[in-house]
Amino acid sequence: MDKLSYLNESSGAWHTYLKQIDRVAPYLEHLKEYIDTLKRPKRALIVDVPIVMDDGSIRHFEGFRVQHNLSRGPGKGGIRYHPDVDLNEVMALSAWMTIKSAVLNLPFGGAKGGVRVDPSTLSARELERLTRRYTSEIGHIIGPQKDIPAPDVGTNQHVMGWIMDTYSSSQGYTVTGVVTGKPVHLGGSLGRIKATGRGVYICGVEAAKRVGLELKGSKVAIQGYGNVGSEAAFLFYDAQAMVVAVQDHTGTIYNREGIDISKLNEYVQQFGGVCGFENTENIANEEFWDVDADILIPAALEGQITAHRANRIKASIILEGANGPTYPEADDILIERGKTIVPDVICNAGGVTVSYFEWVQDISSFFWSEAEINHKLDDLMVKAMDEVWNTATKNHCTLRTAAYILACERILTARKERGIFPG
Ligand code: NAD
Repeated sequence: MDKLSYLNESSGAWHTYLKQIDRVAPYLEHLKEYIDTLKRPKRALIVDVPIVMDDGSIRHFEGFRVQHNLSRGPGKGGIRYHPDVDLNEVMALSAWMTIKSAVLNLPFGGAKGGVRVDPSTLSARELERLTRRYTSEIGHIIGPQKDIPAPDVGTNQHVMGWIMDTYSSSQGYTVTGVVTGKPVHLGGSLGRIKATGRGVYICGVEAAKRVGLELKGSKVAIQGYGNVGSEAAFLFYDAQAMVVAVQDHTGTIYNREGIDISKLNEYVQQFGGVCGFENTENIANEEFWDVDADILIPAALEGQITAHRANRIKASIILEGANGPTYPEADDILIERGKTIVPDVICNAGGVTVSYFEWVQDISSFFWSEAEINHKLDDLMVKAMDEVWNTATKNHCTLRTAAYILACERILTARKERGIFPG
């Protein structure tokens, strides 16, 4: 690769992703001439997003949409609103979407978008203007057959509704299939909001079964109590596991006898975070990594499990609800310490799977019941866990490498069979 290229940065999430590809390369000897396809995004768009603020001033925000790979179908991936968003991060997140879609064998490539903004500092009207302008700037590369955004950190179903409306206005008719994670009455799917957390839970059940951990009475620690963390917490709680620690941006709460998750959602909605919840003590954020737990679920942001933290983690199963929460050197330490890590590319794939169901429902204009959706989701997740586990056993490798073997094999075979244009 060229020196000084943005593709070669020696740190950040993209660097983590490249290291993961290097680790899987020896297993893909038969496709090695195509491996570089995975080490560069197909298309990366940087856009200026100017908006008029409520006080009449004009502010400019930086927006991105990266389509990492489209060999197996249209791009698929969320849109993030966060002050740390940059090209490096969006490239990595888009690449992980390529891998994730392929592990689940969904007919999608990988993409991701984002705007460098703290959405909590904008009014609802400013957020809407930002979303509509960003949509119009990336509008020529998205579409139901091109690239289908979805929610991620800092965005939600209302933002998806504005994207759908803005895109539809530009086309002159209603295009429900341009985004997923929409409100249900705009063509959204039942079960979508809870899907990622549900997928994390299913991976937990499957992993626990295989390592001989009884879920009932087991201890669970969760970082992040948003979309993903809260649903995973509820399902573990419902299965009579004890959620002993929860951390969010407001701090970390702990109760060794288990936190009452049935009441926590309401508290978080009212007070904006978990801190101060009844019958819990606040512990220092760094202590979260020392908590005595059987299952650890990072479900906030990437780059959370450093080598230092990996040496302290007590849990035997780590379920990566977040994207890219574990640094490669931490990965090695955890594996050395005998931990089972269910990697993000399968563990948090419940969201993209139900997004796929939403897209199919929108295209066919025929909608399924929540029970049907959950049933189909459970089936696909269990099948993918089976395939990943068996690949790991066969190749004597980690679940992460196994997931990458399966995914990269599918992506690069598609690339090979399509050929390189113009030949
Ligand atoms: P969210 O915005 O709903 O929730 C994020 C949570 O993380 C919040 O509880 C927030 O308080 C917490 N948080 C933020 N900064 C923190 C910090 N510094 N320390 C501790 N906690 C912090 O986001 P989400 O949709 O739940 O996504 C969480 C993760 O899961 C992200 O990595 C995202 O990419 C990934 N993910 C989400 C989906 C989805 O469907 N929502 C799908 C796949 C992967």
